Amino acid sequence: MIRVGLGYDKHVLTEGRRLILGGVEIPFEKGEAGHSDGDVLLHAITDALLGASGLGDIGSYFPPSDPQWKDADSKMLLSKCWDDVKAAGWNLGNLDCVIALEKPKFLPFRDEVRKSIATVLGCDFDQVFVKAKTGEKLGDVGTGKCVEVWCTCLLEK
Ligand code: MG
Repeated sequence: MIRVGLGYDKHVLTEGRRLILGGVEIPFEKGEAGHSDGDVLLHAITDALLGASGLGDIGSYFPPSDPQWKDADSKMLLSKCWDDVKAAGWNLGNLDCVIALEKPKFLPFRDEVRKSIATVLGCDFDQVFVKAKTGEKLGDVGTGKCVEVWCTCLLEK
C-alpha cells in the first residue's frame, strides 16, 4: 500500500527569534515566531507524515495551549510523531518540500538541512529534498513578514 501526505505551515518572521529550518539554525536578523522553536519546515513535514498515515496532525499531538511544548525542539516533536507512524507499519518513500522565504538565501544550507531531517527520520539523504523560492517581493513572503513551507511525502507498507 502507498499513501501520500501534504503538510503546510506558516510562521511570522520577527526580531529576537532564531531562524530554524529543518533543525538547522540559519544566521539571520529575524526568526520564526511560535510556541515551539518555530521550525516551520519540520512542522510541515510532521503534518505530511501524520496526514499520510491518518494518525492526526501536529495540533492534535502538541496543542499550542499546552505549556509543555513552549520552546520545544521541533526535532523532538517530529521524532515522536514519526515513531507512531513507523509503529503503524509505515516506511518512508520520500519527502519533498518547498520553502517560500524572501531572505536569507537557503541554498548554502540545503545539504545540511537535508542531512538533519534524514537523521531525525533515520532515512537516507536522497529520500529528503528541500528547495526554496522567494516571493518575488510580493505579498507577506515577498516583504519578509513570514515564511511558508509545503511538504509532500510518500509512505509505503
Ligand atoms: Mg508551526
